[in-house]
Amino acid sequence: MGIVGQERGKFLFGQIMHFDIAVQLSLEQSEQRSSEHNVANGAEPNNEDFGTVGHRGGNLFQMRTTFARVMLIDTHAHIYLEDFDEDVDQMIGRARQNGIQRILLPNIDLRSVDLMKNLATRYPDVCLPMIGLHPCSVGADYREVLDLMHSELLKGHYIAIGETGCDMYWDKSFRTEQMESFAIHAQWAKEHNMPLIIHARDAFDEIFEVLDSENSPNLRGIFHCFTGNAEQAKKILDYGGFMLGIGGVVTYKNSGLSEVLADIDTRHLVLETDAPYLPPIPHRGKRNEPSFMTHTAQKLADIKHLSLEEISYHTTQNAQRMFNLQ
Ligand SMILES: [Zn+2]
Repeated sequence: MGIVGQERGKFLFGQIMHFDIAVQLSLEQSEQRSSEHNVANGAEPNNEDFGTVGHRGGNLFQMRTTFARVMLIDTHAHIYLEDFDEDVDQMIGRARQNGIQRILLPNIDLRSVDLMKNLATRYPDVCLPMIGLHPCSVGADYREVLDLMHSELLKGHYIAIGETGCDMYWDKSFRTEQMESFAIHAQWAKEHNMPLIIHARDAFDEIFEVLDSENSPNLRGIFHCFTGNAEQAKKILDYGGFMLGIGGVVTYKNSGLSEVLADIDTRHLVLETDAPYLPPIPHRGKRNEPSFMTHTAQKLADIKHLSLEEISYHTTQNAQRMFNLQ
């Protein structure tokens, strides 16, 4: 039983001491304990195990109320931008206060590389950088830019390739170049065994065309800020290595995302903010920041009929698996 508590505590809440005690109480009151064995024998707890322990113990309420904090990973935030110059330390403090222990930084263009690296150097335990060229920054010179990005990639210190993808919403004039750039990013991801972070806006046709030829068993990644329909979600998950990044849009009433996500297994979902953009309700209209992600997590928990702790546990596990994080 102690092993169960320690295992879960380690996965879920890091240093938070109360957790072992609560799980133990929950288990002591449970009558059937078959699900313990999987975990005690070293198997990774899956969705069912975790749900079962709470419900069997009849003590989910206690688990919910015992912990003031949960451990979350913001898998996509541009908090190195000037929008945060005034209060970056306080902003990261607020994120930690809300349980966001890691914030993953997707790159945009050549100019943002140094901003991003500076922040990652300042917060090495929290902020982890990625390298890539945003599709909206792909222009006629994209090949030279990608050469420079590639030498940056070879320096190491990056956890993922991105963000890349295609965006036909703002401008279609570099459609071919965006697709070519995306394909090159996918090749880097395979060569370096790193996740590919995909921006898809009005561009699923372009994205799918590239992935249909680039997909392979060693390609994995995230469709960041996923806002597609059920059919597009299915196509993405059918590739085998991809997850959906869920951001503030899920809290917007007319996004239609709740219905789509209700039918998708939680193991395919990770959380993100895309800060400073797309803040969740009730912060719509403001600058978005990682500490707001708890609203997105709560909304996703409601959609999946899980507690905030459970959705945090699952999405954090998924992010750790995707990015090879401890
Ligand atoms: Zn982004």
